[in-house]
Amino acid sequence: MDGSQCTHRKDRHHIYICWLAELLIHHQALKVLKLDGTTMEKLVEATKYSKRIKELNILARIELNHPVIVREEVAQRLADAVNKLPEELFLQVDSGYRSKETQKNLWQYRSNKVNDLVADPSREDTAHNTGGAIDVTLQNNNGKEINLSEPFDKYYAYPELRSKKITIDAQNNRLLLNKVMLEAGFAPNPKEYWHFSYGDKVWADYYKKDVLFREIDSIDKKVQYSFPRVIFNKAIKKLWWLVRLVTGTNVNY
Ligand SMILES: [Zn+2]
Repeated sequence: MDGSQCTHRKDRHHIYICWLAELLIHHQALKVLKLDGTTMEKLVEATKYSKRIKELNILARIELNHPVIVREEVAQRLADAVNKLPEELFLQVDSGYRSKETQKNLWQYRSNKVNDLVADPSREDTAHNTGGAIDVTLQNNNGKEINLSEPFDKYYAYPELRSKKITIDAQNNRLLLNKVMLEAGFAPNPKEYWHFSYGDKVWADYYKKDVLFREIDSIDKKVQYSFPRVIFNKAIKKLWWLVRLVTGTNVNY
């Protein structure tokens, strides 16, 4: 849910109706239109609707407090997209919903490394904060990520969809990913071959439709990891960071 939607209303009857609507959404996944035309659709795991959608390894993941989560319709459309891929290919979801805080940390950490590829959270509505955006790539059927930037080992080397600096295989794989995602109703980001969205402002502009999803202030506890799991995630990621530091291990992120 989008957090405290109901408390902003002044009229008592409106508050009761709003609470009832939130309860229905919470328990039955109903989509309810808000007054501004956007919806209150809940967040679910991006892997919910297909076994062929895999999460990026926790060691490489940005969000450690919860799985990769997106608006429910986004998860359904990801399942549509993966069904359009050849049988031996899987979708790998790297990042979905991000809190404002995560986006801020990411921007501070990565803006020097990847120039303008991370949106400055203080300047604009960030697509990932709406739950409508997803970063996605391909996996083979052995669970190994396919490098869509080959021969470079960083996924953000030449991030433009139609870059000619990468191998023909990588070019074709980028176009295949782009094709199935668009067929499933997502909007692309030609500057980042891995980023797609549904229902956010970029999507609305691309398809000349109204925005469906606005930013989300807080998320339901049901979609978060337990406290011990979060501690474990942070510890193991720190350990991995140390191992990489000592051994000089290079990874594709
Ligand atoms: Zn993205």
